[in-house]
Amino acid sequence: MEPFAREIARRRTFAIIAHPDAGKTTLTEKLLLFGGAIQIAGAIKARKAARHATSDWMAVEQQRGISVTTSVMQFEYEDCVFNLLDTPGHQDFSEDTYRVLTAVDAAVMVIDAAKGVEAQTIKLLEVCRLRNTPIITFINKLDREVRDGFDLIAEIEDILQISCAPVTWPMGMGKHFRGVFHLLEDRMFCFAPGTERRVELETIVGLHNPLLDERFPDEVTKLREDVALAREALPPFALGEFLTGRQTPVFFGSAVNNFGVQDVLDALAAWAPPPQPRDAGARTVHPNEPKFTGFVFKIQANLDPKHRDRMAFLRVCSGRYTNGMKAFHTRLGREMRLANAVTFLANRRNVEEEAYPGDIIGIPNHGQLQIGDTLTEGELLQFTGIPYFAPELFRAARLKDPLRAKQLHKGLKELGEEGAIQVFEREGGQLILGAVGALQFEIVAERLKTEYQVEALFEPVEIYTVRWLLFPDDATKNRFVREQALRLGRDVDGNLVYLAPSRYNLELTQEKYPEVEFRATREHR
Ligand code: GDP
Repeated sequence: MEPFAREIARRRTFAIIAHPDAGKTTLTEKLLLFGGAIQIAGAIKARKAARHATSDWMAVEQQRGISVTTSVMQFEYEDCVFNLLDTPGHQDFSEDTYRVLTAVDAAVMVIDAAKGVEAQTIKLLEVCRLRNTPIITFINKLDREVRDGFDLIAEIEDILQISCAPVTWPMGMGKHFRGVFHLLEDRMFCFAPGTERRVELETIVGLHNPLLDERFPDEVTKLREDVALAREALPPFALGEFLTGRQTPVFFGSAVNNFGVQDVLDALAAWAPPPQPRDAGARTVHPNEPKFTGFVFKIQANLDPKHRDRMAFLRVCSGRYTNGMKAFHTRLGREMRLANAVTFLANRRNVEEEAYPGDIIGIPNHGQLQIGDTLTEGELLQFTGIPYFAPELFRAARLKDPLRAKQLHKGLKELGEEGAIQVFEREGGQLILGAVGALQFEIVAERLKTEYQVEALFEPVEIYTVRWLLFPDDATKNRFVREQALRLGRDVDGNLVYLAPSRYNLELTQEKYPEVEFRATREHR
């Protein structure tokens, strides 16, 4: 294979999705250890510890330094180059969390084996579903008293509507956790806490090997029954089903003990797809095209708020990025030099500052780059599929000093464009803020104060959700606008939205106007 094609083929760009406390941080850290990125692994832990210590916004501010370096982590394992994109969770759960998932080719879903499928897992999986992203499942914490494997799998299949193909099956749990039986390799990997590499683990080949009876007399019978039932009742792993997002391979383990982690990494290397072609409006862009293209999926306000510098995270879709190259900004219709762009090499030494399809680069800028922007070498393209998601939390913005209305509008417009929050303007000028995570309001209030010198109060408002509206014709639109004026608003780009006060109201209105489309997501531009 020629070198460029080889670089693409060995890229794996993925994210970890999990409900808080399922073990995402621990798994991230262990995955990085396999890639030799010990320092970054330390930073991951430090970041989480700092976040737990205080929910104060200024502390979050101080963490931005770490959060830039840990928001993308590139490491090498075997012959693959992995890009692990962090999905902010916990207090800083935000729209970024969702948008990051539009920039990956695969995801690892971590489930706490005691708790099963939890609320945030469901939301995140819904977002993966928009692009049929392949999902690898890791059922964690088998070193505790947890739920039965079949019970957990039934729950995943029921709630998440994805078929499960167990690849490993646990023997025992809690104090009696003995390891996992690999259904494809037909051998047992014996549990030994903290073992670094799988090759160091004791293995026993064959389900009916008498060694198993000798070593694990109390657990072997149930394991044999379980494995027989799993093989009979559950589907075998099928690569095609996995790649289309219909089936997920399931692994059991204990992240904190580093057990089962390598299975996940091997599955990513062997089964997860390399960078995929992407729809760019006018045409589909293939990763192996020689010319550079990419899109911005996340903006992060940088360390010094006074300078309004931003870091735009761009996913490379084709061609090669080299330091200092010029790119064409298709929305603004002009060239920009990609000076001082950051690559995220967690541990890779002696590599030049360059990036290939699947890689992420961070481009410092002063607001020229917005979420959804496309960069090329001159061709007019616009990548699709980076949506706004209907917010779930709402506040009405009110000024302390009414004379600062202009600054408030400007600030909210810019923060809205940056993706920090969604802003809707009602007939009559009331500004409504929408978020998916509560911390987004705090951050916006703080940034309005420091960057725009505006003190705003955010008050509760009776809105349950928003829907972007699509009309079949002008007559329908005019009638809707006339009859529903009080419930209408416009987003920062001027698109009409319906602000529903309750789920019930939304359903009624949808029934009343069957010809109008109510959309829960909207593409950036
Ligand atoms: P996150 O919130 O999803 O990032 O979860 P963390 O990785 O921070 O883990 C949450 C808690 O679960 C921490 O106290 C971890 O030490 C613990 N934890 C993670 N993996 C395991 C495991 O395999 N077994 C046990 N017993 N605890 C675990």
